[in-house]
Amino acid sequence: MSAAPKHLYLHVPFCTGRCAYCAFLSGPPPADPAAYVDALSREAAARGFPSLGPLETLYCGGGTPALLGERGFVRLRESGLFSLAEGAEWTVELHPAAVTAPLVRTLAALGVNRLSIGVQAFDDATLARCNRRHTARQALEAVDLARAAVPDTGIDLIAGLPGVSPAEWARTLRQTVALGLPHVSVYALSVEPGSAWGRAGLAPPDPDRLCDAVGEAAEALAGAGLRRYETSNHARPGFECRHNLNTWHGGDYLGLGRGAASRLGRLRRAGDGAEETLSPEEDALERALTRLRLAEGFDLGAILARFPILRPRRARWARLLADFRAHGLLDADNAPTRRGHEVLDAMERELLR
Ligand code: SF4
Repeated sequence: MSAAPKHLYLHVPFCTGRCAYCAFLSGPPPADPAAYVDALSREAAARGFPSLGPLETLYCGGGTPALLGERGFVRLRESGLFSLAEGAEWTVELHPAAVTAPLVRTLAALGVNRLSIGVQAFDDATLARCNRRHTARQALEAVDLARAAVPDTGIDLIAGLPGVSPAEWARTLRQTVALGLPHVSVYALSVEPGSAWGRAGLAPPDPDRLCDAVGEAAEALAGAGLRRYETSNHARPGFECRHNLNTWHGGDYLGLGRGAASRLGRLRRAGDGAEETLSPEEDALERALTRLRLAEGFDLGAILARFPILRPRRARWARLLADFRAHGLLDADNAPTRRGHEVLDAMERELLR
């Protein structure tokens, strides 16, 4: 058994419908969604972790975690599945249509101190095309309700949605900035084969326009004091998502629930439950290279000190990093520039070879 993880992800794979771009594992909620909490506890025990904690971070994602309802979250808190360390971060993802004042007040009372609302767009026609099942007004009301209970509330947007003109995207960004949120995630649309759009043969967004949209978001958010601390994530200093930072820093985490991935030591478990034990070098490479996504910069000395097995790569990596800097893909601290974020995968491939 691995050391008890300090970071736990709970997946709630229920949705009331299917967003057109989504290929995640999710289905309709069962008659008693709260009973799912008991299944999570049983899964944790079966995997050798009858109780977890004190956790540094807990992230409830989905699917639609709000479908657990107040009863489900109370049951989760009282289940004995986990304890939280002093100052722990507990995030819950929320769908705008599921946000109610009693729910967010209950979440706050239970210790949830971070909410992430999937807004995606601020235009009703786009939301309808995406089959999001909420309106722009509902999203704005959800943000207000959520942050009245939990001040550290952020939103997600998707860049590159079909039918969104540059002018409409600029309007979305202005509305986002006007909300004055501490955290905004901006994901570039990818047309997944398992999604409704993928099955319908929707063409992926034009790569240049997509890069422009993502870059414009980063500029607008930077102007509002939100730093692009990871390729898709922007936060006011001190409001970064600690749960995700742990992953990008190459830390362990346990995922529970149908569709949840885990990383414990060299054991990698995919969302479909498939497990693989990585070689020590594969493990180190994977944990090291996620740092390339971060604004704190790819600190070669610190990375090689943590992963001695990668030291034979020192000279080659130093040359490659210098090359990326010379091409304007990394800044002087080896943090990705706007152009660098666009070609992260290609840089990673070069470092992997
Ligand atoms: S995007 Fe989220 S809410 Fe929409 S179907 Fe997928 S998991 Fe459910």
